[in-house]
Parts: sequence; C-alpha cells; structure tokens
Amino acid sequence: METRLSKRLEAVASFVPKGARLVDVGSDHAYLPLFLVEKGRIEYAIAGEVVQGPYLSALKNVQEAQQGEKIAVRMANGLAAFTLSDKMDTLTIAGMGGRLIADILEAGKDKLVGIQRLILQPNNREDDVRSWLMSNGFQLVAESILEESGKRYEILVAEHGQMELSAQELRFGPFLQADRSPVFIQKWERELGKLVHALEQVPLDRQADRAAILQKIKDIKEVLHVS
Ligand code: SAM
Repeated sequence: METRLSKRLEAVASFVPKGARLVDVGSDHAYLPLFLVEKGRIEYAIAGEVVQGPYLSALKNVQEAQQGEKIAVRMANGLAAFTLSDKMDTLTIAGMGGRLIADILEAGKDKLVGIQRLILQPNNREDDVRSWLMSNGFQLVAESILEESGKRYEILVAEHGQMELSAQELRFGPFLQADRSPVFIQKWERELGKLVHALEQVPLDRQADRAAILQKIKDIKEVLHVS
C-alpha cells in the first residue's frame, strides 16, 4: 500500500531535492522517507529515531514496504543517525519544538559539512531555529506556512551561507513576512488577540511586564500593517 502523508509532511517533502540522500531525524513511522522513496524522488534515506516504539514502527513499515535496501532505519540520538561516510546531502527534522531542533543541530553540527540542505519544521519557537541557523553559517532559502486541522506550521529551508536577520525577521521569518500569506496573517492575528487578552490580565503597576507585552503587540501590528 502506498504511503500517504499529512499536508504538513507533504509540504516538508516538497522541499527535498530530487535524487537526494536524505536523513530524517525523529522519523517516527518513517512515513516521509517511505513516501519519497516510493515516488522515486530520492535515492536513499536514513530514518533516525531515538525512542524504541517509533523506531520499531519505522522498521516494521520499511520492512513491510520492502524498502530495506533504500531506507536504513537506525536507533540513534539526533545526528548520530549518520556518519560522513554515508554521504548524505539533505536533512529533515519535523514535528518537534524549535528549541529541540536547535539543540539537535548544535549537538551534531560537525556532521553538517556534507549536508547541502536542511528542511526544518518546528512546531513552535521558530525564532530559536532561525537564530541557530544564522549563528552557524546557514542561510534561509525558503520558508512556508500552512494550516492543517486548525494548527499552523512553518517550514524553514536552509543551505550553507551567511545571513543577518533582524529581531523582527527572526520572529516572523524573512520570507513569510514578505509573502504575507493568509495563513501567516491568521497566525499573527491570533497571537495579537492572545497578547491583548494577556495585557488585560497584567496589573497596571507591573510596568515592565506590560511594556514587554506592549512591545510584542506593536511588532505584530507593524507586520500586519494595522494601527
Ligand atoms: N517527524 C515526524 C513527523 O513530523 O510527523 C514525527 C514527529 S514526532 C512528534 C517526533 C519524533 O522525534 C518522535 O518519534 C521522537 O521519538 C523523535 N525524537 C525526539 N527527539 C529525538 C532525537 N534527539 N533524536 C531522534 N529522534 C528524536
């Protein structure tokens, strides 16, 4: 049976270059590598998992699909899933918090010399991921945002290179804030609503807390072009 992906993972898959040698860190069921191999879009994949349950599930799915020659399932923490001799060129990390993604990249950054493209899909704290990229010789080449089942997901695509992002770009994403897609507007309108509500709860004498929230509100209004 052909592997089907969620809209979120399909969007991640769309940024994987044709013919890639892909490492998927935190692969869970190995759906992403299976989908790409079945479609003939990648040459080879390593599905890495640090937890036994998801690792066994990935292994079972790859075996059942008889794709063991094209997908290696490895139980490993982060980038320990591959070595330089595997000659991998593309890395995906999807469905985790932004801080965890940044920590995984930091812990294994020596391995990234041969990786030409990172495709990262943090569930939150996207600014932490952009900061890590900026501080470690990567530049964003694309960003995307989508909505699925009432949740909004950002995808960050980076390659080796330098970039300088302002605090605003780290938070909103340089490509996303230029595109101003309906999902992006929706995401930040919701954030704005939450902050306005939060501000109402903060007593007037807590000046510093109020100022911090007011600054965030101002930044969002600027990006949304509302006064
Ligand atoms: N990548 C899939 C997706 O986007 O649908 C699965 C996301 S799932 C929520 C996160 C997976 O990452 C879990 O299976 C978890 O065990 C795995 N994980 C978390 N930390 C990891 C690490 N340091 N190394 C490898 N896998 C990790």
